[in-house]
Amino acid sequence: MARPLLLVHAHPDDEVLTTGGVMAAQLAADEPVCLVTCTLGEQGEVIPESLQHLAEDPDALGRHRIGELESALSELAAGQGTVDQRFLGGAGRYRDSGMMGTAPNEDPRSFWQADLREAADHLVRIIREVRPEVLLTYDHFGGYGHPDHIKAHRVAMYAADLAGVRGYAHELGAAWEIPRIYWAVMGAEPLAAGVAALGPHASTQWFDPARPPGVPAADIDVTVDISAFLDRKRAAMTAHHTQVRVEQDRFSLSNDFDFPFLTTEHFQLVRGDPEADDTLFPDLSDG
Ligand SMILES: [Zn+2]
Repeated sequence: MARPLLLVHAHPDDEVLTTGGVMAAQLAADEPVCLVTCTLGEQGEVIPESLQHLAEDPDALGRHRIGELESALSELAAGQGTVDQRFLGGAGRYRDSGMMGTAPNEDPRSFWQADLREAADHLVRIIREVRPEVLLTYDHFGGYGHPDHIKAHRVAMYAADLAGVRGYAHELGAAWEIPRIYWAVMGAEPLAAGVAALGPHASTQWFDPARPPGVPAADIDVTVDISAFLDRKRAAMTAHHTQVRVEQDRFSLSNDFDFPFLTTEHFQLVRGDPEADDTLFPDLSDG
């Protein structure tokens, strides 16, 4: 029986950064993958000099990033299956909110300003249609505090609850309780090791060894070895060329800071049996 995976991400590119390896693995196993992207990333900064005109035109950047996302997903699939990608409420329904305190954050069309239940209902409909076995989204802080990531977390968690209620909103489909939910996080120890391996000339001011970012191993429930899919992940990141600059052993974002490629992805269990084996999809039927 199929074991559908549902992912809820804020912007095009986020799907690759923290969950690209598990998406590729799921596709390679011929299992369904549904990706819900909440905004078009209209407020993203633009790296390539040749595309700077997009930085002045958020709507054009949003349209451009739809194309980047399509390319990235086909790199992740590498001919094995396709990602069922959807934008929450349809493409352009919710706008990138930018960072806290900026004008785009106050825009009534922004995802940050969106009514929580209305946004959740778009996702309830998808959950009840796709009937995922596993949901992946962010933690309560959205990983690093971007308003769209925090909002994506809230919408995903609320929608997961509403979708399972038999008497809630029959017009959105038959109730579905998602058996397992995880938050995708950065693993603190692998991240620290990866940064150290980049060497002294890397631009890693973002990393404070006194207060290393990420979640410690003791608080991580599932670690997935994605080394077999690292090439696909690298190619998919390259496809997001307005957002990511990729080199062999590292990548950088618009702030020019270097990040290591890691061979693992990390997850905290939110819903599901913590005693089950430590894979994303434990085989509960044998248990
Ligand atoms: Zn993002």
